[in-house]
Amino acid sequence: MRCRGHGPAGLDSLAVLPYQTHMHEVALAGSILDIAREEAEKHSARRLILVRVRCGALAQVEPEALHLAFESLARTVAGGVDCAGARLELLIEPLRLQCGECGLAFAPVEPAGRGVIVFAPCPSCGAEFGHTPLSGQGQIVETIEAE
Ligand SMILES: [Zn+2]
Repeated sequence: MRCRGHGPAGLDSLAVLPYQTHMHEVALAGSILDIAREEAEKHSARRLILVRVRCGALAQVEPEALHLAFESLARTVAGGVDCAGARLELLIEPLRLQCGECGLAFAPVEPAGRGVIVFAPCPSCGAEFGHTPLSGQGQIVETIEAE
């Protein structure tokens, strides 16, 4: 839909689209900032410098989108801690599975993506289902730097 008389054409959709397509990253960036800000406050820090986050491959985070979301959200953080210039360091943890049949721990050959976990055959016994993720899930804020 086009709206006339509301500034440059396409401005609205530009502002809205990244949020919709990267909802996941925006929500994640928000919770990372929450955790980092709380931690900085606990240590009476004034300025957040760096947040290091370990992110499992299964979480399917787009690093670029997460960085963008983090940067723009960091500027809006209110309160006693200045987060505007904070850097985000992202460590993507590869996916490792344990075979539900023979117990072998292995890394799926395909890069982790949608559905890969279901169809990753065990290199030892060939079982395709029932594997348990050992690592590569979820996101953890590992360290923060603040002053
Ligand atoms: Zn197996």
